[in-house]
Amino acid sequence: MAASSESVCPYCGVGCGIRYDADRGSAVGWNGPVNTRGELCPKGAAAWDVVDHDERLTTPLVRVNGRLVEATWDEAFDRIEREFSRVAADHGPDSTFFFSSSNCTNEENYLLQKTARALGTNNVDNCARLCHASTVAAMGDRFGAGAITNSLSDLGEADVFLVTGANPAEQHPVIFRSYLLPALKSGTTMIHVDPRENQTTKAADIHLPVKPGFDIPLLNAMAAVVVEEGLVDEAFVAERTTGFETLREHLSGLDIDAEAERAGVDPDDLRAAASAYGEADRAAVFTGMGMSQHHCGTDNVQALINLPLLTGNVGKAGTGVNPLRGQNNVQGAGDVGALPNVLPGYRPVTDDDARAAVADVWGFEPPNHPGLTEVEATHRFGDEVRAAYVFGENPTVTEPNANRVREAFESLDFCVVHDVFPTETVEFADVVLPGSVWAEKSGTVTNTDRQVIRMNRNVAPPGDARADLDILREFAARVAGLDAPATPEGVFDELRRVTPIYAGMSYDGIGTGSQRWPFPEGATEGTAILHADAFESGLKTAPFRVVEHVDPADPVADDELVLVTGRVLQQFNSGALTRRSGVLMRMRGEDSLQIHPDDAAARGIDDGATVRVENDRGEVAVAAEVTPAVRRGTVFATFHYADPLVNRLTGDALDPTAKIPEYKHSAVRVTVEPEV
Ligand code: SF4
Repeated sequence: MAASSESVCPYCGVGCGIRYDADRGSAVGWNGPVNTRGELCPKGAAAWDVVDHDERLTTPLVRVNGRLVEATWDEAFDRIEREFSRVAADHGPDSTFFFSSSNCTNEENYLLQKTARALGTNNVDNCARLCHASTVAAMGDRFGAGAITNSLSDLGEADVFLVTGANPAEQHPVIFRSYLLPALKSGTTMIHVDPRENQTTKAADIHLPVKPGFDIPLLNAMAAVVVEEGLVDEAFVAERTTGFETLREHLSGLDIDAEAERAGVDPDDLRAAASAYGEADRAAVFTGMGMSQHHCGTDNVQALINLPLLTGNVGKAGTGVNPLRGQNNVQGAGDVGALPNVLPGYRPVTDDDARAAVADVWGFEPPNHPGLTEVEATHRFGDEVRAAYVFGENPTVTEPNANRVREAFESLDFCVVHDVFPTETVEFADVVLPGSVWAEKSGTVTNTDRQVIRMNRNVAPPGDARADLDILREFAARVAGLDAPATPEGVFDELRRVTPIYAGMSYDGIGTGSQRWPFPEGATEGTAILHADAFESGLKTAPFRVVEHVDPADPVADDELVLVTGRVLQQFNSGALTRRSGVLMRMRGEDSLQIHPDDAAARGIDDGATVRVENDRGEVAVAAEVTPAVRRGTVFATFHYADPLVNRLTGDALDPTAKIPEYKHSAVRVTVEPEV
């Protein structure tokens, strides 16, 4: 049984165990299922800073005559019940939208998606939409499951790591230090595909600085080298794949050197990388948002998956396709159904049997048509969508084309923000509900490794703030007439009954360890390595896909550069939490624009100068960091700060399958900011 204090870090998807140490007055690590020696990165070590912060929301707020004023919980919920009922009655349930939270527990996400469905809409999504929706779509198509194929503990057996569009040294530091670095020190070769040199690149043997938006030519060329050099695992291809001849025909028509140059990389380096990957006995792919956040993100990952299928690197230790997930429960939020097209356990809402199965437990059948995704919904605010519930997300900072998003929020009839701080999105709220942070609640989260881990309450929420599950229980009762179980354990027991991949788990069984999905009813443990004898699709074989390059949505004029956004070690996502940590702000309190020395010289930009970055969507001012770490023609900034709000510049062209926006390629003009 878990001790009462053991919890999980609120930041990245690694899922490190942390707890409050009253003697030190800070968060400390415990020997969790992933950070087995209690190790934490700077963000986890600073996690207590957000618990006792003086900007915490401590009482409900309602907007009166344009101002948010303090209210009782009853006053806040009366207003919510009245307005949601009115909007749903006047415009139908699909005029409501629910932002669920990949930073909150499985139980909370489960209850919010159930509430939306009880109200009569599948309009519920979480910020998985903005990070790995395309990865999940491509892997689901090929393998039948969109999650990590392997487990962290076996990946060290790889001879080669192919890291594409990910920067684990800074984004998943405990994975990097505890699982990848020891393997690298023992001789594993690392290939890093990224337009920018970062801390991961420093540990790599081969760096392919791909031109943003040109991953498909690079990956096709690597596959062509594997075929040309006879590195195909013929037995695996014959037994476990379909469509090889069609792919081979396509690849044989490619000019490998020309494709490498099109992708912006040295052909010899590309050939060396492909040979290393193809010759390895075991090769593991790690993939991140550099791949997924494109309007061809699904195709990018489809092209990537051809490599392990060609070389037999699926279904055994030290291999596979391993997405590195961003937030501490982005995996679980999707697992338990906080997505508009699937029910808990990724069963399509269009599947009659799946709806009937949940109806047996819920007592009502969810709607049979997919709902809107997150960015699609904001594009319809004020029109098709009139009311929104925003739980633990900060979309006015994190969604692309932020000026448009802010106008969209202004056009809503009614907006509830349920959060722990007065985030930038609170500016648009009609009602604000003060929730709880990691140390103040109990429940489960599912990490990037498919491990379900328990969080346990350390301290009470401040003032009148409440545990998030209690708030969501009352919301569910008020707007949808639901009587949800009163405890996280009770909700977990219900959710596992409608989530087949969790069906055999139990809250007590997780204890201070973890249980990994898939864990079907009757099983004694979960499955660490997927697709060993058959794919999760139920098929023995996975298909090859022929993938063609698609130009980025933003054309780039001669005087423009390509903006790529990303993250840094010391901050996290919209910064709503980390920008309130004194320690982390001292480590990295401001954003900068990384620009190549040649591009800076051509524009008369000195290191440290304030530059204006603009396009038709907006403009920001930011300090220039002149560095050869970024490739010529490319600039880099984070999206952690509200000022500069870099997402004013990013585009909202969507991947047609996964509806993920193209954050990783925005054309911008960069000039020296005139002095005023
Ligand atoms: Fe938290 Fe991730 Fe750092 Fe672990 S690696 S302490 S989960 S931010």
